[in-house]
Amino acid sequence: MGLVCSFVVLGIGLRMPERQRAEAMPGVPSVFFRLIEIVSWVVIGGATIILWWTFPLIAPWQKLTIAFLLLGSVIWTFHWFLPRYGLRRRMFLPILIAQATIVGYAYYIFYPYDLSNFFIAVISVAAVLAEWQVVLFGVVLTTLINIAVRFLHAQPFTDLIVSVGFDFFTMLVTVILLIALTRIIRRQFANTARHNHDLALLLDLSAPTGGFFDPHIIVPDSAKKIALGFPVTLCRICLLSDDGKSLINYGMHPLRALPLHFQVGERVSLDLMSFHRRAIETRAPVILRMDQPIQNLTDIERQAILFENIQSTCLVPFGVEDTMIGVIDLVEARSWKNQPFDGPQIELLKTIAHQIAIVVQNAQLHQVMRKQAERFLVLNEVAHAIGSTIEMDKLLELIYQELRQVISTDTYYVALYDPNDETLDLRILIDEGERFPAAKVPVQAGLASLVISNRRPMMFSHLSEERRSLPIQPVTVGQTRSSESWLGVPLMTGDNLLGMLVVASYTPFAFNEDDRRMMANLAEQVVLALDNAHHHGEVERQSRCDSLTGAFNHGYLIQRLREEVECSQANKHPVSLIMLDIDFFKQYNDTFGHVVGDAVLRATVQAIRSHIKHTDAVGRWGGEEFSIVLHNATAEQACHVAERIRQTMAALTLTGTLGQSVPAPTVSQGIATYPDHAISADALVTEADRTLYRAKANGRDQVAIARSK
Ligand code: GH3
Ligand code: MG
Ligand code: MG
Repeated sequence: MGLVCSFVVLGIGLRMPERQRAEAMPGVPSVFFRLIEIVSWVVIGGATIILWWTFPLIAPWQKLTIAFLLLGSVIWTFHWFLPRYGLRRRMFLPILIAQATIVGYAYYIFYPYDLSNFFIAVISVAAVLAEWQVVLFGVVLTTLINIAVRFLHAQPFTDLIVSVGFDFFTMLVTVILLIALTRIIRRQFANTARHNHDLALLLDLSAPTGGFFDPHIIVPDSAKKIALGFPVTLCRICLLSDDGKSLINYGMHPLRALPLHFQVGERVSLDLMSFHRRAIETRAPVILRMDQPIQNLTDIERQAILFENIQSTCLVPFGVEDTMIGVIDLVEARSWKNQPFDGPQIELLKTIAHQIAIVVQNAQLHQVMRKQAERFLVLNEVAHAIGSTIEMDKLLELIYQELRQVISTDTYYVALYDPNDETLDLRILIDEGERFPAAKVPVQAGLASLVISNRRPMMFSHLSEERRSLPIQPVTVGQTRSSESWLGVPLMTGDNLLGMLVVASYTPFAFNEDDRRMMANLAEQVVLALDNAHHHGEVERQSRCDSLTGAFNHGYLIQRLREEVECSQANKHPVSLIMLDIDFFKQYNDTFGHVVGDAVLRATVQAIRSHIKHTDAVGRWGGEEFSIVLHNATAEQACHVAERIRQTMAALTLTGTLGQSVPAPTVSQGIATYPDHAISADALVTEADRTLYRAKANGRDQVAIARSK
């Protein structure tokens, strides 16, 4: 009977899938089962041989039948029946009865040889390996067969009761002792295995695969290790955002598609995650079980931690010292009864959380340091560039190139503010890599207006959400899309707002406090550059101009004339030069004084400027003689201009040093045009000069045009 039971139990054990056996009999290696099967075969083979040679009471054909039946039933059990039906409960009883009948029959034939000791040995093996109910059932069945066999052999009733009772008692005591002993050993086995497993998991978590310094690699790696090693149905690790108001899913395993929310990379406000918030605030794990009423579960929480057929969830917060870093979500679909988040597991989870906190914090610190170093490098580069680059546009381009290495920006612009007409002069505008031409845009009520009115950096992280509560209207520059993140810093000199430096991104939460500080530093550099450029421009302008009248000086005018002639040669359009000289100015000075004379010189330049275009140029040739370069103008057009200047001069009203009214002097002008009258700048000057003297000679206060050659 023991053989029967042991066959069945061993058979089931052997044929169980590896995972089920590991759960049912933790710590018992499968090689043990194989060993038992081999022993069974040896015992059966041995019994058959002994039966054959030493049992004279049975006829050879009976011996053969028994041997074949035994061997056949064993082969049939292990290699046909159990692999197919071994795990089906309802098949258990028929096979047991069949085997019991065979063994009972064998026992009946063997009688009066006592096989009790052999049975005890086999039942003992079952006690070590099988569930106690099975073993007890085997003991009872063996006793019943024992009674039946002895009864059939007409053993006296008293003898029967005593011997069977003794066998039963011996088997029972042996089995109970063995089961108790096995349990202790198994528990010890399981504990050791669990400890080893926990230690291995912790060790594994402390050495992230693929790099120590990037949370985006470490966190998914840890989530996978926990999900597989713990194990749980799903493990998600979220980190708190910089402002501590949201959770960001940094890693999850398995990467299964949840119905809607909280995939890797997604961010959810803590206001919508009350249980995570509780875990972070209390700094203790929060356990949710589907069989218990759960109050105020938001939709997002349901989709994130109690979706589909999830049975229980454990949220374990983690942090280092007083700083909380994030939460580990352990989501379990198996019944909480079998997989409870209880004492030892919670302790392990706390240790895991601590381990992850250290690893993640190290990585975060490393990232902060690296970014900081990169930012310093950028500031250094920009400062260096300011020292060597005078051209503003080149500098703004360089700032963009440097900035994009440390800040993930889609849009970048630098605008100069003009308070007179409330406009922003976009000196550089780059959006998603595309460069837009410099343009003047009205300030309106856009985000830039907030920087202008507040005169301090403004940062927005999620504009599609925040916009509703802001007193602004969206204004798009560059691409037509609306940005999600926006960071604008003012360019200030003292209390004076020069403009602003702006970066924006189409992804939310693209910038943080460090970026804001970095931009503020860069803004200071840009202001310095603007100041530099302004001073440089001023010096350059002064070096080109005449200090009394503000007109260009002789040197610059000649240079300008040469450029214009070159340009005319290339573009095949005319350029005209007017030489203007004030009539009898010596006499005028002598009569009204040099102060009035100087005023006349300034008024003359103003009169000239009022009739020329911004592409033209006026310069003081020397003394009271001026020259005017007219871009793309024929002699006729130049004559019109000269005539209007003459008339304006004639209409001038001047006041003398004593406040008396002083008449304005007349002017004489000579015009020469390229290419009609001369084919070089110098020849043009000579020709215009000659024409001027013709005008003088002809009676002054008139305009003369050079004679065609
Ligand atoms: P014409 O009609 O032939 O040009 O006679 P003019 O007296 O204007 O000619 P001339 O070249 O002899 O005199 C130039 C005078 O311009 C001499 C000088 O008194 C005056 N002048 C030159 N530079 C200045 C200046 O910077 N300020 C003043 N107030 N007068 C100047
Ligand atoms: Mg003169
Ligand atoms: Mg003169």
